[in-house]
Amino acid sequence: MSNQTRQIVQDSLNALLKDSAFLPELKEEARETAFTSLGAILSTPNHVHKSFLRIALENGSVVRIPAFRVQHNNALGPYKGGIRFHESVNEDEVINLASLMTLKNALHDVPYGGGKGGIILDPRSFTEKDLHLICKKYVQYFSDIIGPDKDIPAPDVGSGEREMDWMMAEYKSIRPGQPYKGSFTGKSVVNGGSLGRREATGKGVYFTFRYMLHDFMRDQRKFLSGASNDNIFAKAALQYENRPLKIAVQGFGNVGSVAALEAYQCQYLENKVVAVSDRNVTLFNSDGLDIPALVRFSSLYKGDLPTTDEQLMEAGVKAEIQDRSKVLYLDVDVLILAALEDQIHLDNMDKIKAGIIVEGANAPVTSEADQYLSDKGVIIVPDILANAGGVIVSYFEWMQGRETQFYSESEVYELLYKKMKTTMDTILPAFFGDPFPLRQNCYIHSVMKLSTVLFRQGKLY
Ligand code: GLU
Repeated sequence: MSNQTRQIVQDSLNALLKDSAFLPELKEEARETAFTSLGAILSTPNHVHKSFLRIALENGSVVRIPAFRVQHNNALGPYKGGIRFHESVNEDEVINLASLMTLKNALHDVPYGGGKGGIILDPRSFTEKDLHLICKKYVQYFSDIIGPDKDIPAPDVGSGEREMDWMMAEYKSIRPGQPYKGSFTGKSVVNGGSLGRREATGKGVYFTFRYMLHDFMRDQRKFLSGASNDNIFAKAALQYENRPLKIAVQGFGNVGSVAALEAYQCQYLENKVVAVSDRNVTLFNSDGLDIPALVRFSSLYKGDLPTTDEQLMEAGVKAEIQDRSKVLYLDVDVLILAALEDQIHLDNMDKIKAGIIVEGANAPVTSEADQYLSDKGVIIVPDILANAGGVIVSYFEWMQGRETQFYSESEVYELLYKKMKTTMDTILPAFFGDPFPLRQNCYIHSVMKLSTVLFRQGKLY
């Protein structure tokens, strides 16, 4: 668990320990001990599995690729979380991402625990055949610990439907005759995946801040005006209510491109996506970018955005080409972070101009930057709130696999928004009432749920 996650979990526990209305059945003399064990349970994973995948590559060489599966906590249900394919994956990172999954699922009342996998490789430097073998080997190594009621992997950075299809097929052949549909989520639709799963995270990211700034604020106007006197976040949010927003999006993968497209298509209040970026460039246009044209271009160029004037012409897009890090420092209202972790940190936090930061990626803001920006009244919509669309629709996929009943795309989105709205309606009144950042409010809610369940399961003695 990262220091940031551990600290916020500990702060949440301290706040709850003082609140005698929380878990009143826990006797006074047992409280301190129970909260100490809670701290230990939540800050350490149940299991860390690691292995080397030995692969004979298509080019004749043999490689040993380090791979992980971390099972953080399963108090609320089977372990659940994606498998990251990236060259910078490391054990501590996977542990932290697994613990965020525990908190995320608890926050949104998804009946899963938290887990995460990782494979240290750059998927772009392997052939399709090699990747297929890598996926099969991963499942062979970890087949005893995964399964529809044990631990259910899904896509994450660097993996998608193709990898989940391969992995599910391997699981099925290792365990013939046993249920296998729910062993992986994020599969392609023909293979038992859910409609809307690929788009779910990006759509959810856009939904969270739009809901907060428009629907919630409209309904809660009276309450907010009262609160705004002493709550810096309520004051900040009121500035953005009912006016067009300038939006910048870092990352143009599955999450960023869909969130950008949602913002573009949702003509509500004439919001404008003025910048998008990827690992090569930032594209900027103060009048708004043609996002559908950029999506078309990137699907033809392995996910990359145009990097030259010729390519912009080819895409039919008017934009200025800037350095890839520029996207972070633009004078915009909303900055969506949909790339990797640790993007805003001690060395660049004072250059951020956006008033609202939405964490489409997991952990893109370090604890120092989080503290600094929150103190200035910047609203940070945290990862566990904003990017849960993926795991929520994974849950729908898993249910559909069990029920052998399928939802249409619009039914999936309706269910997704309903679930995210329920969470927001629980969290936002406290956020606009208390002087705590939104992340802290979310953590308190998750920790409350996990503590209650762990206590009732007799795990706190
Ligand atoms: N990798 C995604 C996340 O970080 C989705 C996980 C899932 O669907 O299980 O939330």
